Parts: sequence; C-alpha cells; structure tokens
Amino acid sequence: MDKQKKGVRLEHISKIYKDPKTGKDFYAVQDTTLDIEPGTFVTLLGPSGCGKTTTLRMIAGFESPDEGDIYLGDEAINALTPNKRDTAMVFQSYALLPHYNVFDNVAYGLKIRKLPKEEIQERVMNILKLVEMEGMESRMTNQLSGGQQQRVALARALVIEPSVLLFDEPLSNLDAKLRVTMRTEIRKIQQKVGITAIYVTHDQSEAMSISDKIIIMSKGKVEQIGTPREIYYHPTSKFVADFIGEANFLEAQVRSADGEKAMISVAGGEFEVNNFAHAKAGETATLVLRPEGVSLSEKGLLEGTVTLSTFMGAYQYYQMMVGDIEIQITDYNPVNRRIYEVGEKAYLDFDPKGVYIL
Ligand code: ATP
Repeated sequence: MDKQKKGVRLEHISKIYKDPKTGKDFYAVQDTTLDIEPGTFVTLLGPSGCGKTTTLRMIAGFESPDEGDIYLGDEAINALTPNKRDTAMVFQSYALLPHYNVFDNVAYGLKIRKLPKEEIQERVMNILKLVEMEGMESRMTNQLSGGQQQRVALARALVIEPSVLLFDEPLSNLDAKLRVTMRTEIRKIQQKVGITAIYVTHDQSEAMSISDKIIIMSKGKVEQIGTPREIYYHPTSKFVADFIGEANFLEAQVRSADGEKAMISVAGGEFEVNNFAHAKAGETATLVLRPEGVSLSEKGLLEGTVTLSTFMGAYQYYQMMVGDIEIQITDYNPVNRRIYEVGEKAYLDFDPKGVYIL
C-alpha cells in the first residue's frame, strides 16, 4: 500500500443521545479533541458506556457529531457518508457475507468500485497472503473458524486500501488464547502496511500490547492520552491508575517541597520522593504504588502486618495492613527472598524514586 498515510483529528466533538429511560439528553461524547498521527496504532480504552464506540462510529461516519469537526488528513469529513470516507471498519461480528466464499467476501468492496477483473484478482490474492489465508479462497464463511473469519474481515477492510483502519472490539468473540494470537497478528499487519489504526477495546492488556498510544476515556471524556508506558507509570488521575493495572493508593502529607522532590509522610513512615514537582508543603497527596513495585523485607520504608500470603507460581501474592490500609503486593522474585507468613510483621520495600504521586 503506497498511498499517503493520513492522520485523524477530532476538534471539540460531542454526541448527544436521549436516555431511553428518562427521556433526557446526555453527552455520550463530550468536547473531545484528539490528534491521531499518521501510521500510528491508537486504542480507545475505557469502561463500558464511556463513549469509545460512539467516537469510532463518528470517525467512520455511521454517526454524526452534534458539535465539532472531524478531519482525515487536512480534509473535513463531517459531511461525507461512510463509503465516501477513506476509512474501513473491522467489526466485532466480522460482518461477512454468509453466502459468499472467502474470495468473493474480500473482492466485494472492489467489485462495487468496478475495478478491472485482473486487478481485483491480484489485490485479493495479495491481501489473503498478508492475512495468511492463502489457499482458502473457495471456502464458505461458515466453514471457517472464528480466527479465520476475523482474518477475512481484516482482509476485506485492507483490500480497499483505506488511509485509516477502524476496529470495533474485533476480538471479543474469540477465546482468550486466540485473542492474544490475533492481536499480535493485527499489530504486525498494521506495521507492515504502515496504516493508521484506531482500535476500540475495554481490555487493558489488549490495549497495552497493541498500541503506540492509548486514549483512556471515562463518561464521554478523554481522561488521559499517552504511550502504554506513560499511562502505566504516570497516570494523571486515580481513575486511570486504577483502570490500568492494579494500584495501591496511600494518602500522604507533604512535609516539605523544593519544586522537584518532596519529603512526604505516609502511614507512619517518612521519605523523599522525586516526580513531584507540583508538591507544596502542608498539602495532602495520593501515593500510587504498583503491587509489583513492592517487596517485603526486614527493613524498608513502611511497616505493616501480613494478612494473606499465597504462592501463585510466578509470584508470591501478599496482602498487608499498613495502618488501616490494605496493600497488595506481587513479589515476582520470591526465590531470592524469604517468604512472609500471615501475622508476621514486615516492611514494604520500594524505590521511592519510582513511586507516582497524584
Ligand atoms: P461498550 O464498551 O459497552 O461498547 P462504549 O464505551 O463503546 O461501551 P458507547 O457505545 O459509545 O460506549 O455508548 C456511550 C453511551 O451512549 C452509553 O451510555 C450508551 O448506552 C449510549 N448510547 C449509545 N448509542 C446510543 C443510541 N443510539 N441511543 C441512545 N443512547 C446510546
């Protein structure tokens, strides 16, 4: 695909629906501004009902925004119908044509565009090779596994050579193992083709593993945008820290601060933290501790009592009371450390430079 890649820009987009129960209008998407760079894989992630699908459907043209503008490259596309937009959607339900074989399913979009027969033949065969479905051209769709149907759905979208691929929870109907295989396949194909991809999911590990950038949504609004690492290590809100991975939250008092690092006291301990430029002495803050960033030891920053100690194979899982707060710990290196049992006192050991503060 040698077409110029295009990015997608949303400017102050809102979508208002009527709540069928109350009859009142509400914002399914509210004042959303996004800039999706050409050739990147971007995921819309958030809990059910946060407005991910509505956002995607507005980009595809299946819904029109009540406010704001959508651009594909430099072109405003609000007024264009879905088939006039340079986008293609891969649906959760695959949306394959049941009485057509694999070849005809993939060729369909090219036939309605009235391309010459030889070109259709060549493009379909090339795409089937790309999605590893060569040799399956004459199979009917009901003779395919879920994963194979998903590959055909992907081929159908890719064959029309859109500038942007849109995915609406494409792997939800597959079993857990196949989901992992297919998400890697989708990412590989996207990188090979170099196409811009916008992907909706509520599965955080899927989003983390597949994306250049994740857009976290909550209640119709964007909560945070960043690379998977930025989102995981530098959540800007409790909502994001809690939604992505596991997190312990500890209330902290800022004792002193110098515009870079701060001395904080937490649950009976006092220590210095970096990453806290906005701290002001006297304020309260929330310390975010990832369970895998903590281990138990004889010495450490915070003392507590073990309330649960479970061997999980890859790690030892602890729960611990530090003051009146329950902390979860996943110790991935228990072979080199002593195992603490329920009722024992221990210290939480973590790198204060690595903690994040909200
Ligand atoms: P899920 O993960 O469950 O698919 P989502 O984040 O994709 O959720 P949307 O489908 O975008 O959420 O829906 C956002 C909100 O708008 C929800 O409260 C939903 O019930 C509502 N909604 C979606 N479509 C309509 C519609 N056609 N009419 C009225 N309300 C709608």
